[in-house]
Amino acid sequence: MYDVIIIGGGVVGCGTARELMRRKAKVLLLEKTNDICNGQSKANTAIIHGGYDAKPGTLKAKFNVLGNAMFDQLHEELDVPVQWNTSLVVSFDLGDHEALEKLLDQGIQNGVRGELRIIDEQELRRREPNVGREAKEALLVGAGGIVCPYELTEAFAENAAMNGAEFLRNAEVTRINRLDDGRWQVVSAAGTFEARAVVNAAGTYADVINNMVSARKVHIRPRRGEYYILDKKYKNAFHATMFQLPSKMGKGTLIAPTVDGTVLIGPTAEDIDDKEDKRTTAAGLEKALRQAGRTWEHIPTRGFITTFSGLRATGDTGDFILGEAEDAPLFFNCCAIESPGLSSAPAIAKWTAEQVTERLGLEENPNFDPIRKAIPKFREMTNEERQAAIAADPDFGKIVCRCETVTEAEIREAIRRPVGARDVDGVKRRTRAGMGRCQAGFCTPRTVEILAEELGISPLEVTKFGGDSKLLQGYLFEEGKHHA
Ligand SMILES: Cc1cc2nc3c(=O)[nH]c(=O)nc-3n(C[C@H](O)[C@H](O)[C@H](O)COP(=O)(O)OP(=O)(O)OC[C@H]3O[C@@H](n4cnc5c(N)ncnc54)[C@H](O)[C@@H]3O)c2cc1C
Repeated sequence: MYDVIIIGGGVVGCGTARELMRRKAKVLLLEKTNDICNGQSKANTAIIHGGYDAKPGTLKAKFNVLGNAMFDQLHEELDVPVQWNTSLVVSFDLGDHEALEKLLDQGIQNGVRGELRIIDEQELRRREPNVGREAKEALLVGAGGIVCPYELTEAFAENAAMNGAEFLRNAEVTRINRLDDGRWQVVSAAGTFEARAVVNAAGTYADVINNMVSARKVHIRPRRGEYYILDKKYKNAFHATMFQLPSKMGKGTLIAPTVDGTVLIGPTAEDIDDKEDKRTTAAGLEKALRQAGRTWEHIPTRGFITTFSGLRATGDTGDFILGEAEDAPLFFNCCAIESPGLSSAPAIAKWTAEQVTERLGLEENPNFDPIRKAIPKFREMTNEERQAAIAADPDFGKIVCRCETVTEAEIREAIRRPVGARDVDGVKRRTRAGMGRCQAGFCTPRTVEILAEELGISPLEVTKFGGDSKLLQGYLFEEGKHHA
């Protein structure tokens, strides 16, 4: 019997689990896939939006601005990389000045913190010398930043688990029943559990979960966004996150530096019907490139290391759907959390936990420890630090991923941590092994061996991302004597 069951291990679900651990509460998080951070939270632009974009008065506007203000503290407490690199919304036509003014006004109304002003072409080019010839002026948003979305989600989960929250993966929720005494019974692939309250943070499936218990139906249509990732070699091409002012030419695409030094080109926005269709398409990528070419005229396409897509949980109200469902007591929605959902997640998590606390009468947990340390990054260490790390643990002396300089010690720790990695992609998100230029060409075999050793399974059982995604088919020679 739990106080709270959270459905969905994205940034919102994991953030809510952590916030709930500030109280004396028995919390279980159920995640459908083989790992946390497998939905929208792993495939997005990683921007901490300033908060100028959402319509004043909406939940998006409110939680974006509140969430944005929480990232410095999260950086301190959870050791998650955050950079305040500013956002620039570029216009390509002086006739669009009024539209920029409107965004500025909207930002002021929403309470966007920090510097918020329109800059002219001269200042724009001084700040960003590579900006395209057509660029005319821009809205500068000082509160625009970037974060590592996987590390944030994992840090939330690790810290929640350190403080007592339980996590189950491969635990797809298939049914929710309300028992006679008012408790919720949650039926999942990992077992049936009971709780006093349920939090629905199921991303693109949050409508399905809501519709299991509430007559007030919600509909989420996935909106796919496709991207290119550009090699770290181009990390200094742009300093700010470069938006395009929405115009009659479309919403535009972004040039988005990441905290890891790569650059994202995208995303597109295409409504689709299949909640699992995460393909990238030639047409989508071509569109992303063409549109982004206005901001950066000579995008070095030879520097692309891979492509990916993410599905936004676009609801039919245009806003987040938050709070206790009217006709389902103690069932709390975090539904239709599309962009700016990553920026808003810390505030959504805090608010949702407060709602649950109030309704359940939970007490403060005096033992809550908000501190979580990141896995030490060999690539960021000085030579002296490297020597000390190797002396303490010789596995720091074994480089597994050459592109990103990730050591065996980091990979082992990523697996051993609370809510640790269970598959190759999980190791990748936690350490960056396989995220570099060769895209896991060299490190996969060793990562598989380490996963097998740490998890006590055969290399043949190791998967890329759970389910049937096994990487190895069998042994070429006698089992156990030769490599798989
Ligand atoms: C292309 C794109 C770009 C974006 N860019 C930005 C940006 O730059 N800045 C920003 O602020 N926001 C951005 N967003 C939005 C942001 O990524 C999301 O709002 C945020 O990640 C939502 O987190 P979540 O936890 O609600 O959902 P998710 O991360 O999708 O997590 C939901 C989880 O629920 C699980 N689940 C689903 N069904 C079940 C079930 N039945 N049982 C158990 N578990 C289940 C899923 O497997 C998943 O792990 C972007 C989104 C996309 C797709």
